[in-house]
Amino acid sequence: MKVFIINHLEIIKRMPRIHCARGPLRCDKCKELDKKENSYALIKVFLEPVDHASPITEIQINGEKIFGAYNVIQRFEDISEAKKYAEENKVEIIYY
Ligand SMILES: [Zn+2]
Repeated sequence: MKVFIINHLEIIKRMPRIHCARGPLRCDKCKELDKKENSYALIKVFLEPVDHASPITEIQINGEKIFGAYNVIQRFEDISEAKKYAEENKVEIIYY
């Protein structure tokens, strides 16, 4: 019997474009980028530790909060483009 372990998943999430390490709370430029609607991205979230240093994001699986390293695979111009991709590829969109 083969056991498949899911070690990553692809999901669409609102991912503000990052300007610098200070973030939207302390940097006006970051705050500006954070407010933009067109900040949805397809990301690959790793559910187990990875070697390389990646940024961390929070997702929920079955109501459980999980923090995982992620890579941005693709950015979408707006939410309708994200929704279209989600429908065609059976990818979930996180709205929080
Ligand atoms: Zn900044």
